[in-house]
Order: sequence, then C-alpha cells, then structure tokens
Amino acid sequence: MNIFSGIKDLLGQINKIDGSIYRHGRDFSDIYEKNIELEQEIAARTKELEQANQTILTLNSVWDMMNSSQPLSSMLAKIVSILYEDMNYHFASILKIELDEHNTPYFSEKAASANRSMNRVIEFANVNLETYKFPYVDSSIIVKAITEREIYSTPDIKGMVKMFFPNLSEEQLNDLVSQMNSKSCTIVPLYKGKEDFGCLIVTTERENITDTESNFLTLFANQIELAITVAGLFEEVKKQAITDPLTGLFNRRYFEENIVKEAERSLRLKQSFSVVSLDLDYLKRINDTYGHQFGDIAIKTIANVLKKEARSIDIPARIGGEEFNLLLPGVDSRGAMIAAERIRKSIENQIIDTIGGVTASIGVATFLEHSDRIDELIELADQAMYKAKVNGRNQVQIAQMQSESEWQKIAMETFMDILSKKRIPVTDNVSMAIIQKLQSIGTSDKNSNEILYSVVDIISQTYNRMYKTGTTKSKIILAILIAKRLELPKEEIDKLKLAILLYDIGNIMVPEEIFNKKEPLTDAEREIIKTHPVIAAREILKPISNIQDIIPIIENHHENWDGKGYPSNKSGIEIPITSQIVLLVDAFYAMTQDRPHRHAYEIDEILDIIKKEAGQKWNSKLVEDFIDVVKNEQLQ
Ligand code: GH3
Ligand code: MG
Repeated sequence: MNIFSGIKDLLGQINKIDGSIYRHGRDFSDIYEKNIELEQEIAARTKELEQANQTILTLNSVWDMMNSSQPLSSMLAKIVSILYEDMNYHFASILKIELDEHNTPYFSEKAASANRSMNRVIEFANVNLETYKFPYVDSSIIVKAITEREIYSTPDIKGMVKMFFPNLSEEQLNDLVSQMNSKSCTIVPLYKGKEDFGCLIVTTERENITDTESNFLTLFANQIELAITVAGLFEEVKKQAITDPLTGLFNRRYFEENIVKEAERSLRLKQSFSVVSLDLDYLKRINDTYGHQFGDIAIKTIANVLKKEARSIDIPARIGGEEFNLLLPGVDSRGAMIAAERIRKSIENQIIDTIGGVTASIGVATFLEHSDRIDELIELADQAMYKAKVNGRNQVQIAQMQSESEWQKIAMETFMDILSKKRIPVTDNVSMAIIQKLQSIGTSDKNSNEILYSVVDIISQTYNRMYKTGTTKSKIILAILIAKRLELPKEEIDKLKLAILLYDIGNIMVPEEIFNKKEPLTDAEREIIKTHPVIAAREILKPISNIQDIIPIIENHHENWDGKGYPSNKSGIEIPITSQIVLLVDAFYAMTQDRPHRHAYEIDEILDIIKKEAGQKWNSKLVEDFIDVVKNEQLQ
C-alpha cells in the first residue's frame, strides 16, 4: 500500500465520521483526493511511458538484429536474452512444434535464456535440452494457447515443469520450483505465416500479467514471428540457389542432384553418360604472383569456356574453389574424351590480361563403362584428372577400368589360353577370329565387355545354331541385377560374371547330333548332356590357374534346391548362391529361345514355369527376387 492510498484511506474514515459537521473539512478532503488521484495517474503514466520506452528500445534492437545477417538460432537466442536481462523475466524460452518419425508432435527448444534452475533440470532429468523432445500435451495450457491463438498465464509453474519433464520426482520438482521463484508463467503463441510455429514462454515474479504487458509480449512475439519468417525465406532462397555466384556456373548441389537423376535414367535406358573433372593448373602460383583477383579471373575464364563448350543439356558446375565438373548426359567415353579435349584446347587458347594464359588438367569417367555407382564414378574422374596432373598437366586422361579390369583380364587370358592351347574343338578360322577380337581388348574403340560377350556368343554358336547373338550380354546383365539385389559383394559379382561367360563351355564337347536332336533324348544321351558341366570345369578350366575359384560355381550350376540336380545331388545352401543364380539365368534365357524340340516361351509363361518349381529346383526366396528383377528392370 503506498503512501497516497494510505492517506486517502485515513481521510475517508475521518470524513465518514465528521462529514456533516466539517463541511470545510470535506472540501479539503476532496482536494486531497483529487490530488492523490492525479499523483497516481502521473505515476502510472510515467511507468507506462518507461515501459513503452523500453519496449521501443527492445523492439528496435530486435529489428536491428533482423536486418543483420545473423542466423535464426542466434537471433532467437538474443531475443530471449533481452527478455531475461533487460525486461526482467525470470526465464524465457522459444519452443517450436516438430513431428517425429511417427508424425507425433513434440516441442524442440529453439532458444532459452540463461537460468540456474534450467541447469538443475538438465542435471535431474539427465537430458540434453538442445535435442530434448518436450512433450506436446493436447490438454495443456501451451497447446491451448497455440490452438486458440491467445496469450495464457498460469501460476502452476510446477505443473508446467512436470508436464515437460514427467520423470522428475516430487522432491526434484519442488526444488526446481523454489529455485525459479516465479509466480506465473505466460505462454505467447507464435506463428510462421499461417502455420503454428510454437510458443514463447516467460516466467515472472508477478502473479498476473497486465494488459500492457500482454500487449508488449504480443509485439515481441510479432517480431519473433517476423524473424522466423524472414529466416525461413532466406533459407528457402539459399536452398533454391543453383548457381555459383563467382562464375554463374551451376553449384555442387545442383550437380549432385542431377547426377543422381542422370544415373537413374542411365540405368533404366542402359545408356551411359560421362563426367568430366577439371582442375586449373598452378592456380596457387597465379594467386601468389598476381594476386587473388587474377586467380578469380582465371577461374572465371575457365567457367566461360565451359559455358561456351557445353551443350544445352550438359551441366557445367563449379564444385569447389578451382574444381569443375561437367556432366554430359547420353555421352559415352569416346564422346566425352572429344569434348574434354576441345575444352582443354579452348582453355589453352584464352588470352588473359596480365597472366597471359592458363591451362587445366582434365579427367573423364563414364557411367556403365567405368562404374555403375555415382560416388565411384566421380572418384574415378578425379583420379583420371590427378593422373593428368602427374603426367605433366594441360592434358586429358580417361578413367582406368578399375572395377572391371580385373575380371575382364582374367576372362581374356582364359579364352586366350583355351584357344591357343586348343582346349576346345573349334576350327582354326573361328579360333583366329576370336583371338584377334581378344587382342583388340583395351586398344580398340569397342567396349571391352562387348568384345568378351561376343566371344562367348561365337563359341556358343559353334555348337548351338540357335544361340542368339547378344544372349551372353543379357545373361550377364540379369545375373548382375540379381546379385546386386542380394547384395553380394563385388568380388562375388566378378566371379559370377566369369562363371556366366564360362559355365556352358563344356557343351562344346557334347556331340552335335545329341545337342541338336529333335526327338526326346535317350537315357544314355541325357547322361552325356549331364556330364557337360563337369567336363567344362575339370577338363577345360582346371589347367588355367587364375580361374580356379570359378570352377566350383560352374560345377554346381545344375544342382537343385531339393537335391535332385546333378552331378553331386547337393541341396539347399550347400549349393553356392552364385551357382543358383547361374542355373536360373541359364534356364530363363534357354526358354526365351527356340530349341530343336520346342518353340521359345513368352516371358510370363517362363516366369510361371519357374514359379512352379520354386522350392524344388530353385530356392523360393531367390525365385521371388528373380521374378521381381525380371518384371521391374528393363532387360534387353
Ligand atoms: P595444380 O596444378 O596441382 O592444381 O596446382 P594448384 O596451385 O592449382 O593447386 P593447389 O591445389 O596446390 O592449390 C589450389 C589453389 O587454388 C589454392 C587456393 O588458394 C586457390 N583457390 C581456390 N579457390 C580459389 C578462388 O576461388 N579464387 C582464387 N583466386 N584462388 C582460389
Ligand atoms: Mg589446381
């Protein structure tokens, strides 16, 4: 009770007693009363003015912050610290509504003022508040404030703490609440545009908030909302940026997004694309000699060449300081080498003020040729670029057939060995033609894989007139797709590729009359047909040292899941998974082609036949994956 109201009270009492007697006294008390009222009003107005002043100052500093380029998190941290330090709130926190993986809402703390009791919370609840999921309780005053878009206050601080940290004991809660020493907690809802964002929570020593304070908090909340919205827009714009500011080329993010799309397209259409990796030569020297701004000019010069040389569908991007990548959709390694060389020459021919000229080292890698994985492809293009550096700079290098080279080399050596040592009966002409093909691997423009596949096609056609050219490639593609679906390691996939190339080579030992017979086979003939995998593995391949771990795959590729296959009646997981894949792929492609005793089947018929024998001839799970792959991948 202040002194004015004390006096007023007293005078009131005197007036009551002596009102009728002391008329003058009453006039006197009227004047006093008026005076007191005026004094009170002045005091209240002064306080309001002070508060308005403080509000303006505070809002001003919030506004200043928003105009600076501070990230949202530090802006929100400043706002809560202003509330705490300048506006005398005990505690201030900004909570944001989030959704967890089950779409259940919770609050995350975006900013909180310093507060000793919060340290207690961390200690008691043993949580990291930065990652803590504050419960979102539908019936709580917080959710009520947000959904009703009203400011609410509650004296129940303990209830609030308990709701947010349900695991705290009664004792801990009491300890915390007494520490906080606040009498009320006010919740101000926050919005981002039209959406609910969360709320601002403040606690004070006052039991109730006045309208003025409520207005002030509303203004404050508006500023927070503006900051959130502006920061959101800023993030959005930044995210949408696809170009690099210095050069105007695409940025790394855009390049990475597009290479993913391109790889998907490429796998679907079985059409390759290339990546050109380019790095400026001796940029450091340019920077050191002429200054950084000339380094920048050199970078821009290269960017302009890339822009000029690129087709409209190409994506030239600045990946890092002086590193550039160029994505060439639909271009194979040959085309990419031509493009890269054209770029190299054009860079070399640029005349740059003061510096004179610059050069670049360039690497090329092609999807499906060098790798069918994006990360590996980019790595291979980089390695090729590095090779260009090591070899003297200002040149183009193509990626090494790293992932393919090993199994291709083994395959090539195996066929060379088989033919040169006459391990299979083919005419000298056929043998010579194949040897020539094999010798061109690595030197001819033709893809090495294609050469290997055509060698197997030719050998198969010597004993099976109906073997269609291109079948070997299709078998390899299907086998790889299944192996990848089963997540077999790369080494196993490489072995599988070799096995697909070699598993049927024993057929060449089967007398032609039996192979091409139209009538049903006799038991004796069937026995001969059955011996072919063994012959292939043992007789033809055993002497070739680097093919030894492929032999078991081939030896087991006619074993059946139920043990009724041949030659060893192995069953279930005794049969290597790679052998199981060979058996399925072989059966599938055999049925797609005419045979002397039957016509080719339609794909759906084949899949039905395969399905019928799931669990007997083949592993049911493998059949599921197989059918899925055949149905969903565009096989050639
Ligand atoms: P190398 O031929 O082996 O590529 O030699 P280098 O000097 O170009 O390569 P190094 O990797 O040793 O150094 C790269 C230099 O490029 C160092 C860095 O200061 C400079 N650099 C990176 N980004 C920029 C940029 O945006 N502007 C300028 N002016 N220089 C940059
Ligand atoms: Mg460089």
